[in-house]
Amino acid sequence: MRQQYAVECVSKIASDCIRKGEYFDSEEEAQDWVESECWVFSGEGWICLKCHDAFMGSLTSHRKKQGNGLDGVDSNIEADDGLDNDLETGIDIVR
Ligand SMILES: [Zn+2]
Repeated sequence: MRQQYAVECVSKIASDCIRKGEYFDSEEEAQDWVESECWVFSGEGWICLKCHDAFMGSLTSHRKKQGNGLDGVDSNIEADDGLDNDLETGIDIVR
């Protein structure tokens, strides 16, 4: 019984999102693969190139909306930023 790992795109906002990297026998290999494909690691996890382009655009508008929380008046940071909240689950374990 072999477990396989693939790094999943945490963003999935691009219509042509790759969604998942290739499957490998180890987490390390799966991560090496996305690195070699130049996926971008964010605080949330890995983002495929397709989504990264789209993400940079939406990130800019969201920063404006949140005002960076520096005004000290409204510190409500919206959790709904269009990203999945999987902090640790960028790696999918497929049984
Ligand atoms: Zn993607």
